[in-house]
Amino acid sequence: MKNEKKDLDKNAWSKYNNKQVEEVFTFCEGYKNFMSTCKTERECVTEVIKLAKAEGYKDIEEIIRDKKKLQSGDKVFANNKGKTIALFIIGNEQMEKGLKILGAHIDSPRLDAKQNPLYEDSELVLLDTHYYGGIKKYQWVTLPLALHGVVVKKDGTVIDICIGEDENDPVVGVSDLLVHLAGDQMGKKGDKVVEGEDLNVLVGSMPLKGTKKDAVKANILKILKEKYDFEEEDFLSAEIEIVPAGKARDYGLDRSMVMAYGHDDRVCSYTSLMAMFDIKETDKTCCCLLVDKEEVGSIGATGMQSRFFENIVAEVIDKVEGYSDLKLRRCLTNSKMLSSDVSAAFDPNYPSVMEKKNAAFFGRGMVFNKYTGARGKSGCNDANAEYMAELRSIMEKHDVSIQTAELGKVDVGGGGTIAYILAQYNMEVIDCGVALHNMHAPWEVASKVDIFETMKGYRAFLIEV
Ligand code: MN
Ligand code: MN
Repeated sequence: MKNEKKDLDKNAWSKYNNKQVEEVFTFCEGYKNFMSTCKTERECVTEVIKLAKAEGYKDIEEIIRDKKKLQSGDKVFANNKGKTIALFIIGNEQMEKGLKILGAHIDSPRLDAKQNPLYEDSELVLLDTHYYGGIKKYQWVTLPLALHGVVVKKDGTVIDICIGEDENDPVVGVSDLLVHLAGDQMGKKGDKVVEGEDLNVLVGSMPLKGTKKDAVKANILKILKEKYDFEEEDFLSAEIEIVPAGKARDYGLDRSMVMAYGHDDRVCSYTSLMAMFDIKETDKTCCCLLVDKEEVGSIGATGMQSRFFENIVAEVIDKVEGYSDLKLRRCLTNSKMLSSDVSAAFDPNYPSVMEKKNAAFFGRGMVFNKYTGARGKSGCNDANAEYMAELRSIMEKHDVSIQTAELGKVDVGGGGTIAYILAQYNMEVIDCGVALHNMHAPWEVASKVDIFETMKGYRAFLIEV
């Protein structure tokens, strides 16, 4: 009984009056809109640039081109290939004092069309895919799916594709075996029930009149040519991401949660961005870094391991006070970072994978993971106790509800983030973020009050650290 009372005290909803609850809900309406609009890393960067420009941010490319300087209070963004973005608010103090960095990722698990995707089999046309990130493949069948992405033609023309989100759009999908014939399938292990090579997306079944060979495919190609002006060979230079179709929605009869595709990790990205937009003036320079490719190991030019971030900090130093290598190194080593990513929320349906004293719960606010990793903290960034103590004190001062967690039991869980990559510069980094149900499933669930508390936590960090 005493324990239950204590647990209720920790529930962030409990501290809010009706008007404040309304504020939480209103904030999450903005989040839901963002999630319904931004289903790929490219769409996120496009939307973030639109929002940032409205907040007075300028493209650093223009500052560099026009040989202008940056002063305290200036706001700039750097766009890396349309897939990663860094935003800065220049502070009053010297750059070598370090940055306050909010980092998160904007790529999410999905199915990607292969380079030669389209084929006809038994008068059906399918798109061959290679899944991206860690998924339970059987979750991706019999769902309405949408096609998002770009087709780039040889002349450089970029054609934006988004099919399946408007209510008048068709959707596509991956079929599953009828239960009547699934005896063998149902006896298989989970990772073999649906196999990667079988995640083929059905896109057509109607033959083109007057065509003999592959007439259904010919009809689909005709539609693509007429509607989007590209040919089959243009798939070679396309990035088509196949994602769950439909909008983010309220979840629960009390509307206390949000169900959406891609909470991992757009929930930390959006809240970091909104916290950044609340900062008008700052001592140390603030940075919000939203990166691609986390789900596949942070590699590539647009992943966290790219030199993009280091290079762009060098540019900012150059524009603020003139570049030197030593200033860059001091700036990075003196920085502090909240490396955000989603956590697993305790789920009463699956209690056996959690250790309750060190698990995250819906409603208890922003999650701090001093370390991630499992089986001997393998591969983790173990944040320093001194840094954790500083953050505890900041969160308390700003009345942010926080909880600490590990990702599951010691020998069960584990998962990587971008924290260890930034920690290589010797800056203080800690993992934190929002807890989810259904992580990496087509539709993930987060608590509205946790989303709101996390935004407040980021804002407090940018103000105080
Ligand atoms: Mn993540
Ligand atoms: Mn993930």
